Amino acid sequence: MTATDVGSLRKRVPLGPLTSYRCGGEAEYFARPEDAAELAELLRFAAERSLPLRVLGRGTNVLVSDAGVEGLVLSLGEGFRRIERDGRLVRAGAAVSMGMLVRFAVTNGLGGLAPLAGIPGTLGGALVGNAGSGGAEIGALVESVTVVTPEGAVRELSAAECGFGYRRSSLSGVVVSALLRLRPSDAETEAASARAAVLDRRRFPRGRTAGSVFKNPPGCSAAALLDAAGLKGASVGGAVVSGRHANFIICRSESADDVARLMAACRRAVFERFGVLLEPEIRLWGFPPDILEVKT
Ligand SMILES: Cc1cc2nc3c(=O)[nH]c(=O)nc-3n(C[C@H](O)[C@H](O)[C@H](O)COP(=O)(O)OP(=O)(O)OC[C@H]3O[C@@H](n4cnc5c(N)ncnc54)[C@H](O)[C@@H]3O)c2cc1C
Repeated sequence: MTATDVGSLRKRVPLGPLTSYRCGGEAEYFARPEDAAELAELLRFAAERSLPLRVLGRGTNVLVSDAGVEGLVLSLGEGFRRIERDGRLVRAGAAVSMGMLVRFAVTNGLGGLAPLAGIPGTLGGALVGNAGSGGAEIGALVESVTVVTPEGAVRELSAAECGFGYRRSSLSGVVVSALLRLRPSDAETEAASARAAVLDRRRFPRGRTAGSVFKNPPGCSAAALLDAAGLKGASVGGAVVSGRHANFIICRSESADDVARLMAACRRAVFERFGVLLEPEIRLWGFPPDILEVKT
C-alpha cells in the first residue's frame, strides 16, 4: 500500500477484506474521506485524472473481481455517520449502518424501519439498492437524499427523483445523507417488530455471502427457480450454491471469479430450463460486461 498526498488516499488497496464475500482484488486507489471537505478534494483528484469512481458501503452487496478495479474507490468515514432527529424526520449520514439506524428509530419510538432490522450494510448502500425485506423498502421512508456529483456539486433529490423500484434506484454519484420520514409509534412495539424481523432472517444461510444473488423475476421467486433447476449444492471452484437457500452463493475460496462463474452457470441453467433470464441483485465490480451472458 502506498500513501499519496491527498488525505486518506492510498494506492493498491485490497478490497476483499472490505466485502462480505471476502474475496477479490485491489482498488487502484482507495480513500476514506472523513468529511465533506476531504470528499470534495478526492473528487477533484479523480476528476483531474479521469479516474472511474466507485463508492463502497459495507460491501455486503458487491463482488469485486480477482483482477480488482481501476480508479478510485471511496468508503465514507466518521463524518458521514451522524443521526439527528426533528420530530418524525430523521437525517442520517450514508455511512450509518442499518443496524444503528434501526436501533435509533426503535429507541426513539419511531416506526417504519423495524422490518428492515438485520439487513447488513450502510444506509448509503440500502438507498442505492432500495434494500428491503418482507414487502418493506427503505425508499418508501425517504423524504430526500443528498448526493455529491463526481464534479463536486451537492444535490438534494426528492424521493420521486431517486427513482426507487424493486431493489433499484436511479441514484448516482456519492450519496452522503438522507432525510427519512418515520411514523409515530412506541419503543416497545418497534423493538418487538425489529426482533421478529431479525428472527425471521435465521432461515438465511450464514458464511461469506452477499445475500440474494439474483432479483426475483416478476411474479416468481429466483430461489424457487434455482432450486427447481437442481442448483442447490452446485459449485465452481470454491463457490457453492447454498443447500439451504438456492439464491445464496457461499464463497469458500479466495476467488471472486469462481462466484461469478457459478452465477453465470446458474443463470444459464435457469434460462435453459424455464426460459427466464435472472437479473443479478449483487453488483459485479471489475468483471467483463459479458461475464453473465447467456446465449439466447
Ligand atoms: C446475509 C445477507 C443478507 C442480506 N439480506 C438482504 C435483504 O434482506 N434485503 C436487501 O435488500 N438486501 C440484503 N442484502 C444485501 C445488502 O445487505 C444490501 O444490498 C445493503 O443495502 C448493501 O449495503 P452496503 O453498505 O453493504 O452496500 P455495498 O455492498 O457496499 O454497495 C452496494 C451498492 O451501493 C453503492 N453504494 C454504497 N454506498 C454508497 C454511497 N454512499 N453512495 C453511492 N453509492 C453507494 C455501491 O457502489 C454499490 O453499487 C443482504 C446481504 C447479506 C450479506
